[in-house]
Amino acid sequence: MSTTTRPPTSQHLKFFAHANPSNPLAQARAAVRRADYDCWRQAQPDLDADIDTVALSLVNAWGLKEAYIKSGLRALNRLDSLPKLKQLQETHYLLDMAGLIAIDGPMQALAGPDVDTLALIDDLLVDYFTADQPHQVFPTVDKIRRRMRDICRSLDDTIAYRDTRPKDSYAFSSNGTKAWIELGVDEDTGIKLDAFIRKTASTHGISITDAMKKLLSGEITPPATVILHTYRATDVEGAPTFIENHGWRSAPMPHTRIRDLFDDVEPAQGYVCPEVMRKIVEGRDGTCRVGGCNKPAYHSQMDHRHNYSEGGATHPSNLGSLCQGHHNMKTDGRLHYLIDPYTGDIVWLFDDGTWTITQPEGPLAPKMQRWAQTVGQHITNRRTFVREQAQKLKEEIDEYNAKQKAKAKEKERKEAEAKGDDLPDDIPF
Ligand SMILES: [Zn+2]
Repeated sequence: MSTTTRPPTSQHLKFFAHANPSNPLAQARAAVRRADYDCWRQAQPDLDADIDTVALSLVNAWGLKEAYIKSGLRALNRLDSLPKLKQLQETHYLLDMAGLIAIDGPMQALAGPDVDTLALIDDLLVDYFTADQPHQVFPTVDKIRRRMRDICRSLDDTIAYRDTRPKDSYAFSSNGTKAWIELGVDEDTGIKLDAFIRKTASTHGISITDAMKKLLSGEITPPATVILHTYRATDVEGAPTFIENHGWRSAPMPHTRIRDLFDDVEPAQGYVCPEVMRKIVEGRDGTCRVGGCNKPAYHSQMDHRHNYSEGGATHPSNLGSLCQGHHNMKTDGRLHYLIDPYTGDIVWLFDDGTWTITQPEGPLAPKMQRWAQTVGQHITNRRTFVREQAQKLKEEIDEYNAKQKAKAKEKERKEAEAKGDDLPDDIPF
């Protein structure tokens, strides 16, 4: 009996559910991903080729939209700049073209990322696309795009160096049937106004657009206070900030109150989850916990894994964020899960005997804490580097200026000396 051909056991234990070796449907789909990827690679032109011509010939060959083909080709070029991710992709074919495009899109906003930043993104993505559980649910394209946007916004530390606030703008336009009103403000103000409008909408039970109309026309009174929740590691220098409803970014949000969410909370005395506890669970979960569901946790409901009426505690270890639809399924008995009280990992059990694992992806989730630390370190290192470069440059400039000054003085002195030689001997006083 040979054991050499068998992969290490750990690889058997950890895999994404969509690449499950014992699920024929997953395997069929995995084969499609691989064939599609190989097909795109076969069509990838040289970097100096005319992309427009290539795209048009592929429109004919594949019957796909020109814009999609161009996005796909750009995504392949991007993957070539992320060698570790490329190797992972060409070993397991986990990502389909939509996933690869979702990685490339947000990265286009990064102005010429340096080698270190690219290497960091490469590492972060390999970590993201490496299963550390068996039957782990693979992120949807939406989640991948959001994660990429979070990474890019967290790394855009240029925000710390320049005042990016453009002048506020207001624009009105109409086309005879519809009108558009646009307000342009800096991001901090925009985020606060957005929270204000959303709070008004939920308080009055109306849509966001109705809330805006009624607020601006004075039809309803604005809420007295609006609380905007943000999450930031206080023990990590340069740590990015997570803003509820907006995701991650590099700059901290100005705030009035700080709350430590790592203190252990006591189980609540009742069914209703107190606000702080809710923020802890939302901060851990990020989204509805059902695999493939992207509904944000702060729009979800707090599900008691063990029913409160049956003795289940109102405590994060017994609570999961579920969107309305999935909460209904849980209540109906069509969804079953087990929650790991320490990591927040959820094991979903299905009627056909299969199961999957979803990991929490909110800012308080263990995985995201490590992520914030890595990003924070990179930002701190880069800031130190930029500061050192700036200091060095300043020293060089100072030195140069000092030398020029000394030279000019010396010249002046020599000129004065020369002039002095020419001075007439009879001084007129
Ligand atoms: Zn859901």
